[in-house]
Amino acid sequence: MSKYPCLEIDLNKISYNVKKIKDICRDKGISTAFVTKVFCGDETIIKEIVNSGADTLGESRIDNFRRLKKLHFKKLLVRIPMLSEVEEVVEYCDISLNSELKVIQALSREAENRSKKHSIILMVDLGDLREGVLPKDAIEIVKEILELKGIELLGIGTNLTCYGGVIPDENNMGRLLEIKHNIEESLNINIPLVSGGNSSSLYMVEGGNIPKGINHLRIGEGFILGRETAFGKDIDHLHKDVFTLKGEIIEIKEKPSIPEGKIGLDAFGNKPEFEDKGFMKRAIVALGKQDILLEVIYPRDKKIEILGASSDHLILNITSCGNKYSVGDIVEFDVNYGCLLSVMISSYIEKRYIK
Ligand SMILES: *Cc1c(COP(=O)(O)O)cnc(C)c1O
Repeated sequence: MSKYPCLEIDLNKISYNVKKIKDICRDKGISTAFVTKVFCGDETIIKEIVNSGADTLGESRIDNFRRLKKLHFKKLLVRIPMLSEVEEVVEYCDISLNSELKVIQALSREAENRSKKHSIILMVDLGDLREGVLPKDAIEIVKEILELKGIELLGIGTNLTCYGGVIPDENNMGRLLEIKHNIEESLNINIPLVSGGNSSSLYMVEGGNIPKGINHLRIGEGFILGRETAFGKDIDHLHKDVFTLKGEIIEIKEKPSIPEGKIGLDAFGNKPEFEDKGFMKRAIVALGKQDILLEVIYPRDKKIEILGASSDHLILNITSCGNKYSVGDIVEFDVNYGCLLSVMISSYIEKRYIK
């Protein structure tokens, strides 16, 4: 018996997207870390990604790496580490992104205790105002890092379009390369990796204008939803429908579009507003805010309009669909990144893998 709501995950499509992104980037001399943090460590999905040729995976929670310890791939921690997790970072991660000398020193001590080296990518803030050292401080901090026996400086990197919405361009990517060259020249070292951001940098790879020298990207949404994130455009030739959210219809009735009686607050304390569209055919799907983030799902059937939701009921306008639907039928939805995250976390939603 199938259980609803469920999330159907097409493993072949995700595998295809991984290979394709890897190829697109490799053609431009760029290696890719596949950022899997949205999957909450789901072993089936992660295995598929690794088997499709992803050699480095990015996670933000060390717990996921601990649970996936048996799988063979390079483990990149994409959230700068907490001081309190330094031991686990050195034990379970091969590489981490960093911006605080105090933490890097602690990582070094821990690595030395274990007679190993921990690799880091030093993050530089190019204006998005999330993590990273300021460009003017980069050389000084690298000088200090080079003193640390337990640390290998694998590269420098930046993260854009996450907090400030800053879009990667030739200007800020060029600046990152300039910082790398300045560090290399003034300290007489070689910095192998320049990590030029996340899925918002993909449009430059595709457009062929990513500056030469950017040789690493950390890609999540791009291979997961087939979309670049600078302008929110679909990427050609990638599957956009790897994930299908499915819910079951529990009621269909012709009802007015405006509630009857005095309007107070809805179940979430908001005062709802309604537009009078006359009588409409309405369907209720057994899916609600208790299951997932509902603001960001899109019916595959474009004739369906989402009217609203409470904790357990999703209300649809199916007037334009004729007699296509009846009680017990399944309605399919696309999800965005935020919704996918809430689905992966939710224990109410069955995960169904197809291959
Ligand atoms: C989440 C994350 C990524 C991946 O971002 P996408 O937009 O999903 O490609 C890359 N780098 C860092 C530091 C991240 O936190």
